[in-house]
Amino acid sequence: MYRLAILIFLIGVFYYLIRSFFPPAVEENKVEGSDSEMIQDPNCELYIPKKESVQRDISGTPHFFCSDRCAEEFAQNNKNTSKTG
Ligand SMILES: [Zn+2]
Repeated sequence: MYRLAILIFLIGVFYYLIRSFFPPAVEENKVEGSDSEMIQDPNCELYIPKKESVQRDISGTPHFFCSDRCAEEFAQNNKNTSKTG
């Protein structure tokens, strides 16, 4: 009976050693660079990840939006700046 207990103990130690040699690599691929950069939608002022945003050049300047709809609205609002009435 003792031998079984010793065997289980050794397996536990062995398992612990293996785990310490091979740590779980779950959060290794976390991106901290430009991929996860947050930008603000100038139309609805919502913050969105840059890689998921919609990019539009409006009067020569690139803008980032949460959706096509926001891009359209912002473009429309910028077009009508010189109009009166
Ligand atoms: Zn938006």
